[in-house]
Amino acid sequence: MKIIMLGAPGAGKGTQAKKIAEKYSIPHISTGDIFRANIKNGTELGKKAKEYMDKGELVPDELTCDLVMDRISEDDAKNGFVLDGFPRTIPQAEALDAALEKISQSMDVAIDVEVDDDSIVKRMSGRRACLKCGATYHIVSIPPKKEGICDNCGEALVLRDDDQPETVLNRLRVYHNQTQPLIDYYSRKGILCSVDGMESMETVFNSIIAQLEG
Ligand code: AMP
Repeated sequence: MKIIMLGAPGAGKGTQAKKIAEKYSIPHISTGDIFRANIKNGTELGKKAKEYMDKGELVPDELTCDLVMDRISEDDAKNGFVLDGFPRTIPQAEALDAALEKISQSMDVAIDVEVDDDSIVKRMSGRRACLKCGATYHIVSIPPKKEGICDNCGEALVLRDDDQPETVLNRLRVYHNQTQPLIDYYSRKGILCSVDGMESMETVFNSIIAQLEG
């Protein structure tokens, strides 16, 4: 199954993407995670991506598309994958379709996790991340066992630069301008499915699975 997760930053699509990937034993491919790993490792790509990420802007398509196409052509992705945070623009969606068309394939479903803007802002200000292993928490809804410390690796948790309040507002603006048009794009292709992202994590997950298997 080849799945795209859509939704505003902070809608919970990353959490759902991980759960879907685990359930179907397919890779979870997050462009945000790939960029963050590159930043951490000090690569050229990481240096370029950070300039945009810290402002809440999108990393240019030419730095993003090829890395996703390479990743989905790896062996572990041959039975499907969950894309989280890609595509984020119409040109990215078109590049993805074109790459899959070349191998006579297409995406199966795009899941839109719907959450209103006010809730997004509240959620993101409470988000905490582990920069060592990539785990994410929320001070209210998904707290770590020990305050401020990652459950997985014991590293101190931080508010990511791109989760700072002024950056969040810019990310939402960018989302509405550049990413929301993808909802129409996939609706026209007949592969859009929407879920109410205001429900609990488990309810959202169950409704995604019901739609995938329904
Ligand atoms: P995320 O963790 O998915 O919210 O991504 C964090 C940041 O990485 C975004 O705000 C963008 O700056 C950048 N990014 C992630 N995915 C993409 C993409 N598909 N296209 C452009 N920029 C991206």
